[in-house]
Amino acid sequence: MSQPTIKRLEDLQTMVSLCKRRGIVFQSSEIYGGLGSCWDYGPLGAQLKQNVKRAWWNAMTRREDIVGLDASILMHPQVWKASGHVDGFSDPLVDCKNCKTRFRSDNTPSYIEKKECPNCGSKDLTPPRNFNLMFKTFMGPNEEAANVVYLRPETAQGHFVNFENIQQSSRRKIPFGIAAIGKSFRNEITPGNFIFRTREFEQMEMQYFVKPGTDMDWWQTWKDTRWAFLKKYGLAEADLRFHEHAKEDLAHYALKAGDIEYKFPFGWQELEGIHNRSDFDLTQHAKFSGKKLEYFDEAAKEKYVPFVIETAIGCDRLILAVLCAAYREEITKDEDGKEDVRVVLGFHPEMAPQKVTVLPLSKKAELQVPAMKIRDELAEWFDTGYDDSQSIGKRYRRADEVGTPYCVTVDFETLNDNKVTIRHRDTMKQDRIEISKVVEYVTNGLRNF
Ligand code: ATP
Repeated sequence: MSQPTIKRLEDLQTMVSLCKRRGIVFQSSEIYGGLGSCWDYGPLGAQLKQNVKRAWWNAMTRREDIVGLDASILMHPQVWKASGHVDGFSDPLVDCKNCKTRFRSDNTPSYIEKKECPNCGSKDLTPPRNFNLMFKTFMGPNEEAANVVYLRPETAQGHFVNFENIQQSSRRKIPFGIAAIGKSFRNEITPGNFIFRTREFEQMEMQYFVKPGTDMDWWQTWKDTRWAFLKKYGLAEADLRFHEHAKEDLAHYALKAGDIEYKFPFGWQELEGIHNRSDFDLTQHAKFSGKKLEYFDEAAKEKYVPFVIETAIGCDRLILAVLCAAYREEITKDEDGKEDVRVVLGFHPEMAPQKVTVLPLSKKAELQVPAMKIRDELAEWFDTGYDDSQSIGKRYRRADEVGTPYCVTVDFETLNDNKVTIRHRDTMKQDRIEISKVVEYVTNGLRNF
């Protein structure tokens, strides 16, 4: 066999199909025709999502200077007044009077360049009107204006309103950070590109509270730290770039901001924001709540409102980047020149939904019973699969396609020598190992994968 030619993911549709076929992501409410921009994570996708969250959570909260938080989605309506979301979290929308298309005026090239509808080219358009992106609902049994609450459009406000609770209960000294993972909701005008932009999504945000004057250095440190994290989990340096926002594009509260962008199959797009939010949020909440949100530095005997460096990434968006980065097709030709394609999700082992899968060579009970016993033993340590249908070659391919690092094959020889064959996802190298050593083999293997 020749050396394989490697082909990377070229179009998003290939990934969408793989995700559906293999139970990673399904369209929400599919049997009813689906609900726009909502997606469900299937068995392997739910596991992948847990892994992405765990990697982020551990990278944050295992540091001595960061603590975790799990805040509620519904918050006091004043929070969104103070944060600026009620008045300012909107997109400018234009309606085409001819074809009724509604589009954003700030990112539609045909409008920006020629004041034309992107759908039909008409110039008969309404002026831009601001459309708030927050989802509204009512608290309690009365649908009255007084009972309006919002589904949070970001998790960060939970960090700010709990600043004092957390600082005091965990006795943290500045600098320290608060990390949280949770659902956010935005009534996006133009969602799309699969799980890249959705109306319901999960965010992983960390707010790092620092002494004013040290903020620019911390901003740089966090930019470098997050870059290294993304690289560690398989995003190639060549597919990452940093886009620093120009002064005139900065949000009203930001002193410095930029995005780590990833080269998705549909182009360079924001993956994670790194923002210097100054003391804006704590000052605003102090003003609206009437509670002082300050920090007293005992050593220096000085009081101040900390500045905040924020790192904000969408969990679903990171999942998409991890999937795109992991995808490869290995194309080989057999002796007759026939093309053979092996699809592999070459995940970092921490990301792999299953670390190992057990494959009994036959459906006969004499192999199923010991194979299931091995599966159960492995499952005490790892997310473990089991696959007993079709040929062993097809089963290897299925495991490769969902990125399982190891396959453990139980064959008739196993009954005599108490050994199994372990196959490595990337090298396809096989080792014959005693059953009693399998857990140790996989443990060490994953560590050095
Ligand atoms: P965009 O410009 O893409 O709308 P943003 O600048 O509004 O994003 P932030 O408010 O900084 O985004 O949110 C932080 C992160 O949350 C983003 O970098 C992205 O990873 C994620 N995110 C934001 N909106 C969505 C969405 N609608 N769907 C999925 N992830 C999102």
